[in-house]
Amino acid sequence: MSAQSSRFHTARSTSWLGGGGGPPGSADLLDCVFRPLLACSKMKKYMALWGSLFFFVICVSLYLMMETVNMNSRANVRLADFDEIRNAYDVIPFDNIDGGVWKQGWNITYPTNHWENRDNLQVFVVPHTHCDPGWLKTFVGYYQQQTKGIFENMLVKLEEMPDMRLIYAEMSFFSMWWDEISPEKRARVKKLINNGKLEIVAGGWVMTDEANAHYYAMIDQMIEGHTWLNGTLGVKPQAGWSIDPFGLSPTMAYLLKQMGLKNMLIQRVHYSVKKYLAKKKELEFLWRQEWDFLSVWLFFSLKN
Ligand SMILES: [Zn+2]
Repeated sequence: MSAQSSRFHTARSTSWLGGGGGPPGSADLLDCVFRPLLACSKMKKYMALWGSLFFFVICVSLYLMMETVNMNSRANVRLADFDEIRNAYDVIPFDNIDGGVWKQGWNITYPTNHWENRDNLQVFVVPHTHCDPGWLKTFVGYYQQQTKGIFENMLVKLEEMPDMRLIYAEMSFFSMWWDEISPEKRARVKKLINNGKLEIVAGGWVMTDEANAHYYAMIDQMIEGHTWLNGTLGVKPQAGWSIDPFGLSPTMAYLLKQMGLKNMLIQRVHYSVKKYLAKKKELEFLWRQEWDFLSVWLFFSLKN
C-alpha cells in the first residue's frame, strides 16, 4: 500500500463527512471523488480560498440588502415614487423669465383665509453664517474685520434670546477665535452647543470647493475640522452645509455619508432647476451615486 492510499484510509476511518450513514454507494462516491481531491494539499488551499471568497460575497450581499431595506424604511419612501433629476433636464427650458418679487422664481400667492381653520403656518428662520477664509481679503483680514465680530455677537444674542438659534460651519475661523477667548467665554460657548442653540454644521476647516478640488483635499480639510471639534468640544456634526460652492459634487454627498453625517443642504443650484423643483415641491431629495445600483448610499439632501 502506498503512503497516499494509507492516508485515504485514515481519513475514511475518521468519517469526516459521516459517509458511513449515507445511502448505499454514497461513501464510495465520496471516496472516489472528494477525498482524493481534498487529500491533495494544493486542492485544499484552492477550496479554502474559494470557500472564503464565496462566504465573503454572501456576507457583503446580505449587508447591502439589509442596508437598502434599512435606508428605505428609515426614509419611509419607495424609490419608485421618485423622479430622477436627470429626467428634469429634458423638460426644463432654462429660460430667464422675470419672476417678479422673486426674480428667478414666480409670484407666490395664496388665499388670505388659507390658514384660518388650520394649524397656524410655522415658519422656521435659522440664522446662519457663511465665512470665506479666502476671497477678497486675507484670512486674518476677514477674521479681524468681520468674523470675530460675528462670534462675539453670537455669544451675546444667543444668550439674550431664548428661541434664537445659529448654525456655523468653518472651523478655521472658529478655532482661531476659540484660541484667544477666555475660559469663561469658552464655557458659555460650550453651554450654547450643549443646549442646541449653536449647532456646528459640516465642521470642515473650510466649506470646500466641490468642482475643482481633489477628493483627498476634501477629506483632508474635513479631518482637520472634525479632529479639532472632537478634541476641543466633543462635537460631531450631523448635517452638511454647502451653500457657496460653485457646483455641487456627488462626491461630497458620498464622503459625508461615509463620515456618518445624516443629511446635507446645498445651495447654488441653477435657478431654473431650483424653480422647477420648488413648483413640484421636490426640494427635498435623496442623492444616489451613479454606480449605486442597489441604492445603498442614498443621502438625504435639501436644496436651499
Ligand atoms: Zn463663499
